[in-house]
Amino acid sequence: QEARIREQEKLAVVGQMAAGMAHEIRNPLASVRGFAQLMSEKIGQINSTFKEYMEIMIQEIDQADSFINNFLQLARPKPPAMQQCSLNELITSFARIFESQAFLRGVKLKTDLQEDLPPIIIDRDQIKQVLLNLCQNALQAMDLRGTIILATSHHKEEKEICLSVIDDGPGISPENLDKLGTPFFTTKDKGTGLGLSISYTIVDRHRGRIEVDSKLGEGTRFSIYLPVDQQF
Ligand code: ADP
Repeated sequence: QEARIREQEKLAVVGQMAAGMAHEIRNPLASVRGFAQLMSEKIGQINSTFKEYMEIMIQEIDQADSFINNFLQLARPKPPAMQQCSLNELITSFARIFESQAFLRGVKLKTDLQEDLPPIIIDRDQIKQVLLNLCQNALQAMDLRGTIILATSHHKEEKEICLSVIDDGPGISPENLDKLGTPFFTTKDKGTGLGLSISYTIVDRHRGRIEVDSKLGEGTRFSIYLPVDQQF
């Protein structure tokens, strides 16, 4: 019993330290990102190679930021801050930012949004993080070509909204499909194997679920089902 309490205290300290470190790293990163964005806009008008370099810098900063976010979620999960929002709007604003990342890797980003979706009660930042994780995975899986589609649909009977990230990349083998969501499972050289496990946890806390359909050589679809009319 005592050992367990000590273990919990240790975890709390680690979480606290992680949060402090993340704060100290993310603030300067955000500032560098802002200036890189400004430079890319100004310099891009003069020199397209420089613009591309700046955009790669922005992409790398986003990668670091998303790692820190994922790690923080694991070390110190925050209770979701629920608010009513429009999923389509969230996707549209996300797509605007992600589009240039995709474009740089030769991948098209499309949206296929069902109109008149009912509003939904979610933690915007957390669902955006799930979206980013899924899109980054899709982008990294694809070999400098192809299309990612972000789609929404309303399933009235089940009182659910579905948000899908669909790619026409290489797909996932049945053997690896079983391992998705296991912390630290990765097939990438520089992967952390945290993205999906955090995403599953976040969607779980929203009382939703993630389903995966994938076929080798054809592509992968991650579908997030979120409840409508949920009382928290
Ligand atoms: P990481 O991206 O660090 O590897 P994730 O948990 O996000 O960690 O993903 C785990 C693994 O799932 C990846 O290494 C990859 O093998 C596989 N994967 C996830 N999404 C896709 C996708 N859209 N297409 C192909 N493989 C995928």
